[in-house]
Amino acid sequence: PHAAGAFVNAANTDYTQAANRDKQRAALTACTAQLGKKWPLIINGKKITDRAYIPSVNPAKPSQIIGSWARATVADAESAVAASVAAFPKWRSTPIDDRARILERAADLMESRRLELNSLLILEAGKPWIEADGDISEAIDFCRFYAVEMRKLAKPVVTQSVPGERCVQTWTPRGVGVAIAPWNFPLAILTGLVVAPLVAGNCVIMKPAEQTSVIGAVLMDLLVESGVPAGVLHFVPGFGEDVGAHLVGHPQVDFVAFTGSRAVGCKIWETAGKTQPGQQTLKKVVCEMGGKNALVIDNDADLDEAIPAALYSAFGFSGQKCSALSRLIVLDEVYDHFIERFVSACGSYPIGDPAQPGTILGPVIDADAQKKILGIIEQGKKEAKLAFQGTAPAEGYFVPATVFVNVKPEHSIAREEIFGPVVAVLRAKNLDEAFALVNGTDYALTGGLFSRSPKALERAQNEMLVGNLYLNRACTGAIVERHPFGGFKMSGGGTKAGGKGYLENFLFPRSVAENV
Ligand code: NAP
Repeated sequence: PHAAGAFVNAANTDYTQAANRDKQRAALTACTAQLGKKWPLIINGKKITDRAYIPSVNPAKPSQIIGSWARATVADAESAVAASVAAFPKWRSTPIDDRARILERAADLMESRRLELNSLLILEAGKPWIEADGDISEAIDFCRFYAVEMRKLAKPVVTQSVPGERCVQTWTPRGVGVAIAPWNFPLAILTGLVVAPLVAGNCVIMKPAEQTSVIGAVLMDLLVESGVPAGVLHFVPGFGEDVGAHLVGHPQVDFVAFTGSRAVGCKIWETAGKTQPGQQTLKKVVCEMGGKNALVIDNDADLDEAIPAALYSAFGFSGQKCSALSRLIVLDEVYDHFIERFVSACGSYPIGDPAQPGTILGPVIDADAQKKILGIIEQGKKEAKLAFQGTAPAEGYFVPATVFVNVKPEHSIAREEIFGPVVAVLRAKNLDEAFALVNGTDYALTGGLFSRSPKALERAQNEMLVGNLYLNRACTGAIVERHPFGGFKMSGGGTKAGGKGYLENFLFPRSVAENV
C-alpha cells in the first residue's frame, strides 16, 4: 500500500506471458504499417512544414525509413526563444497543481500507448524489447515523480521560527531553457530533460538527437495532447552544431538541460559560461555525460551472480548505456577462473534484429558508431589480447560482442568511453589496486563490486568514487527515485536525474521575511 499522492514506479511489461508477446508483435506490425510520416517543427503551437526533411532509419535494417523530421534552422531557434520569453510570465503563474497534472496525464497516455511506443523505440533506436519497455517505464516514472516532487516544493518552508517575523523559503522558475538529449534513451531521457523544467514553471525548447527525432516528435504530440500550452514547449529538431549550439549561447536562454557525450557537454559548459551582450541571467547547465564504468570482482565473489550481471551490464543494448560496464577489474586469485567462465558465457547472448523477442544484442545506432567501435576493436587487438569476439549479421549496423584480456590501465580501451559491446578486462593484485584502477580514469559514473566480504563492500562505498555504486548487482538499470542517477568528474556536473532535489536545478530559491 502507498500513501495517497506518493510516487509509485511503473511496472514493466511481463514478456514471459505469451499474451503480452502477441500484443507486442501486433503493435510492431501496426507501427511498421505507419512508418514514413513527415514530422514538422512545432513552434508556438504552429506546425512548420516547409523545411528540409531528414530521414531517420532503422539501424537493424537501414533501408527501412522510420519517418522524416523537419530540420530546424537558427531562425527557427530564434522564433522558439521569442515565443518562450512571451509565454513565460503566464506559465510561471499557472498553479503548480495544474502543471503537475499535465505530467500525470502524459504518464497515463504513455502507459496506455506503451506497446506502440515500445515498437517505435525498437524500430528507430534498435532497442531490444525489454530495453524499449524499460525506457518507457522510466519516461512514465519521470513524469509522475517530478509531478509529486513539484507539489512538495509548492509549500513554502519555514527557515527559522522567531517571534515577530514569518520567514520562509520559496522557489521561482528560471525562465527559458533548452533540453538537448542523446539518442540512447530516446524517450526516457528526452522526457526527463523536458518535463522537469516544465513542471517547475519554465518554458522549454526541445532538441532531440538526430538519430531518434521521430520519437521526439511523438513525445511532443503526446505532451501537447496532455495539455502543455502553445508557447511553453517547442519542438526544434535539428543539428546540434548549429541549432543546438545557437540555443546554448543565446542570451535569453536561462538554462540548458543536456545529456550526451563528454566532448559536447564540455563545449556546452564553456559556451554557457560566457556571458553574452544583453544576457540578464547566469545560465545554469545540467550536464550529464559519459562513463568508463568498472565492476570489480573480488577473490571471494559469487561468480554465479557476478557473471550474468557483468554480461548484462556490458552487452545489454549493445553496451550503449552511459552506465554500461566497460572495464572488468578482476582480482589475481580468481582471474583465470573468472575469465574462463565469463568468456565461455559471452556467446550466449543472441545478436540480431531487435524486433525479435529473444534478441539481447541489437545493432549500434548508426554507421558512424559502427565504424568507430570496429576501429576501437582493431586498436584493442594491437594493445591487448582478444579473448572473445562474437558474430554479427551482415545487414544493419551490428558490432559483435568483444572481450579483451590482459588490458593495462594505460591502454586506450581502458580509458576512453567506447559506447559499444566491448569489455576490457584488467587484473588487480588486491582491492587497493582495484579501487585505484576504478578511480584512474577521467570519468565517475557507475561502478560496482562483487564480494562476499562485508569489509570489502564497506571499503567500496568509501573508495570507489562513482556517482552510482552498485554492490553485488549489475551496474546498469537505475530506477527513478530509488537510484538517483548521474556522475561527477568528466561524467557530469553532479546532478541526479530521478532524484530528490533534481527540480531545484530549474528553480531559483527565494526567501521571504514578513514582520508580523
Ligand atoms: P552527443 O553526440 O553528445 O549528442 C547529444 C545531443 O547534443 C544531441 O542532441 C546532439 O545533436 C547535441 N549536440 C551535438 N553537438 C552540439 C553542440 N555543439 N551544441 C549543442 N548541442 C549539440 O551524444 P549522443 O551520441 O547522442 O549520446 C551518447 C552519449 O551520451 C554517451 O557519451 C553517453 O555516455 C552519454 N549519456 C550520458 C548519460 C548520463 O546520464 N550521464 C545518459 C545517456 C547518455 P545531434 O544529434 O544533432 O548531434
